[in-house]
Amino acid sequence: MKCPYCGGEMEQGVIENQNEINWKKKRRFFGRAMFHEGSVVLSEISVWKGSAVVAHLCRKCEKVIIDYKDGQCDFNRKK
Ligand SMILES: [Zn+2]
Repeated sequence: MKCPYCGGEMEQGVIENQNEINWKKKRRFFGRAMFHEGSVVLSEISVWKGSAVVAHLCRKCEKVIIDYKDGQCDFNRKK
């Protein structure tokens, strides 16, 4: 994947967590996306595996990009 900022090649990697990985409008004590309107689940929680998403890194621009289209970034995606 090309970095949209500098055009250089990005490194593919993984972001892992023990809880659901999601995007929310602001930090919340009860972090699950289901409790907060407008939230986006990036990786479903799995008690056995934890959660993980594919992420692309540009070291030069110090940016990380997660492409969550159709849930394709989610290691726990239900096939
Ligand atoms: Zn870049």
